[in-house]
Amino acid sequence: MVSALPFDTLAAARDALRLRKISAVELTRAVLDRIDALDGTIRAYIDVGGERSVFAERALTVAAEVDAGTRTGLLAGLPIAIKDNLCTTFGRTTCSSKMLENFHSPYDATAVQKLEAAGAVIVGKTNLDEFAMGSSTENSAFGTSRNPWDTDCVPGGSSGGSAAALAAGLCLGSIGSDTGGSIRQPASLCSLVGLKPTYGRISRYGLVAFASSLDQIGPFGWTVADAALLLQAMAGYDRRDSTSAPVDVPDYLAELDVPLKGLRIGIAREYDHAEGVDPQVKSAVDEAVKVYRSLGATTVDVSLPHTKYGIAAYYVIAPCEASSNLARYDGVHYGHRTKEPVTNIFDLYSKSRAEGFGPEVQRRIMIGTYALSKGYGERLYHNALCVRAKIKQDFDEAFQSCDVIACPTSPEPAFKVGQKSGDPLAMYLADVFTVTCNIAAIAGISVPCGFTTDAKPLPIGFQLLGPAFSEPKLLRAARMYEAATEWHKRRPGSV
Ligand code: GLN
Repeated sequence: MVSALPFDTLAAARDALRLRKISAVELTRAVLDRIDALDGTIRAYIDVGGERSVFAERALTVAAEVDAGTRTGLLAGLPIAIKDNLCTTFGRTTCSSKMLENFHSPYDATAVQKLEAAGAVIVGKTNLDEFAMGSSTENSAFGTSRNPWDTDCVPGGSSGGSAAALAAGLCLGSIGSDTGGSIRQPASLCSLVGLKPTYGRISRYGLVAFASSLDQIGPFGWTVADAALLLQAMAGYDRRDSTSAPVDVPDYLAELDVPLKGLRIGIAREYDHAEGVDPQVKSAVDEAVKVYRSLGATTVDVSLPHTKYGIAAYYVIAPCEASSNLARYDGVHYGHRTKEPVTNIFDLYSKSRAEGFGPEVQRRIMIGTYALSKGYGERLYHNALCVRAKIKQDFDEAFQSCDVIACPTSPEPAFKVGQKSGDPLAMYLADVFTVTCNIAAIAGISVPCGFTTDAKPLPIGFQLLGPAFSEPKLLRAARMYEAATEWHKRRPGSV
């Protein structure tokens, strides 16, 4: 039996490191031991043919520098895992795709650079759905990660490896990316806090592009404070990302514990009556809203009338952008090249791409290419952009009368591995509460709010959505709930 981590939040570990109750090397070793013992089951970290993307030696060297005082900063000595679609000069950057199986990036993503500059110990790179397309990690070319609360279930996706790594105690904080829910949904399925910051808040430089107008990097933590700490280290303008926002970074931790007075929580009629929401999820989220009321918040009815077109718009816009972004992987410029005999360059491209991309990525490329093709572009892509403007308008109007909007994160708790993998549409529909946040380029956070009554209880999360750059308020609102409840203290028994 491997021992539990001496601390299970970044905040606690940070205090202990500062007081020298533990060294960074000891903490890193404890994490590495747990990875050795448990990751064969959890499969949170990328594993390409037995070579796991865990950087033990490098992590211990960084930790030793922290202990020696030559590496300092906000995250000094804290063991962090990052999703394998963030470019790193160390290890591979695979995006869980055969296409990039052997890709070694010549540069580090800005977010990674910032984490390391803040003293973080990056222990490894985590599994995802191939190119971040999916909600379960089942689309990974390197195996499915497991949910530490019930290893028969998925951890969610696409940042499922980052969520599973944290929930299983194989790191103390982790980083994901969210294009349509890929941080918030796995956070919800693994009882973690997951934040999708405002578009432009964290530089996307070095984040392998899926849908560039929707992609955003963000943190996972056991607590709101841990998520805020990671955000603090990564946020800020970067001239290397033209969509990064020249907006000052506030101190997210300064007033985190100060409850918001007069918080107005919007309840969207359309979300309240959404079909297909598991009754246990519905009642847990309703209970969470009651907790807010008991803390003095008021609820306001709001309407998001175009929300019903959210999934349709997302599953046009995201594949359109993906089909264009993924054109570079042709076996010549980038990526896997076929070893089959080829007759001409097009044959080389198509054989390489057919071998390198998995079925879901191929499906998205085909949908996107179709939706952008002459004659269809007007009807599909341009319509989707109109819907996008309407969805944004809905939120702008709703936020006139409320500070945040509360709703479920995922309509259901974690599902069994294999349960939905044959039904892409069912998988897409489960993104109903998360995609509009990316479409409108606003901020969203998922917060643990209960468990199912299953023999192995599964986590439930609720989501708060806030206007662009409202992270300080969003985090405080989330913290207010967390401080009044105990859900964030539970840990999975199986690991
Ligand atoms: N599940 C969504 C999709 O498959 C969201 C993915 C994401 O946020 N990266 O596209």
